Amino acid sequence: MPILMIASPAGPRSRSAAVAALIVAILIVAMAIAWTLRRTRRPSRVQSKMFSMICTGSVATMCLFQPQPLIGLLGCTAFAVLTTYISIFHTAGYMLVNLAAGAGVAAVLAMRIVESSGDVALAVSALIVLTALNVAVPLAVQSLLRALGMDLAVAERDPLTGLLNRRAFFREVATLLDGHRGAAAGGHVVVIMVDLDKFKALNDRHGHAAGDRALMLVARAMQRSCPRESALGRLGGEEFVIAVVSEEPDSPTAHRIRQAIANLPMGVTASVGTATAALDTMCAGPLVERSLTALIDDADDAMYRAKRSGGDRVAHHRPDTPDHA
Ligand code: GH3
Ligand code: MG
Ligand code: MG
Repeated sequence: MPILMIASPAGPRSRSAAVAALIVAILIVAMAIAWTLRRTRRPSRVQSKMFSMICTGSVATMCLFQPQPLIGLLGCTAFAVLTTYISIFHTAGYMLVNLAAGAGVAAVLAMRIVESSGDVALAVSALIVLTALNVAVPLAVQSLLRALGMDLAVAERDPLTGLLNRRAFFREVATLLDGHRGAAAGGHVVVIMVDLDKFKALNDRHGHAAGDRALMLVARAMQRSCPRESALGRLGGEEFVIAVVSEEPDSPTAHRIRQAIANLPMGVTASVGTATAALDTMCAGPLVERSLTALIDDADDAMYRAKRSGGDRVAHHRPDTPDHA
């Protein structure tokens, strides 16, 4: 579109406007190529944020460089597409940045209409249409997704604890590993399995509702103990799994988690098992599931060793000392 507009009599007139259009076009083509050539289907969260911010900047640039403000306002409809994308994949804060940028650009263009033609009614009408679009389209898409049971944030999370479910955990780890591939040679991925000790007894003593509350508190405690670059999922009843990317083969996270759970007021403890693999030995893309499942099995074996030794402790899987022995 920016390239097409250079050919239009209504397109950019100044040299700087044409250069801006060219830069925007190159950025967009580069992002399209990068997205198409990705090994995994999804960009990482950071890449997706960068993508949406570059798009917001590009749309704003193109609209502001329009010599005819009404055409610039027409271009502002593209903000509605971006707002919808951001509303599905990112947080409200990023959506507000995009909405504020759209509102700012539209206000500048509306002022230009008033300055050049004195037509306040036209300027206000254009603003009303744009506001309606930017609010209605993202809302309509969100309601549709929810009605179809496709709420992305909800479908990926365990309803009780808000942690990732098994499928989402695997996907999150694949994205996490992808972000590190090549860059951090020598890094490790540490998988940590957590199983609460004698949890059935807590349920029997205090009731199922108290058990549910305990699970929520445990989830919160684990979230606080995990570094930013980690994925945290609930695999089953009172079993949790964490994957951490770490420089060292031993991550302090497992010990922090055990301590944080033991510090909770309900007297609940956990058996924790870990297994480690060098990042460059992990399979890429869809095959990551295979390496990850093997690591989870190893961490599970170590966790059972911790449980057999009395619980409330951390055991590490060592490849040369089988846990089954
Ligand atoms: P161990 O020390 O061997 O791990 O004993 P345990 O009682 O923790 O293990 P077991 O696997 O025998 O029992 C797990 C119990 O966790 C069974 C069930 O009562 C409880 N549980 C599983 N999911 C939930 C849940 O969603 N809410 C509540 N309240 N309890 C749950
Ligand atoms: Mg269990
Ligand atoms: Mg248990």
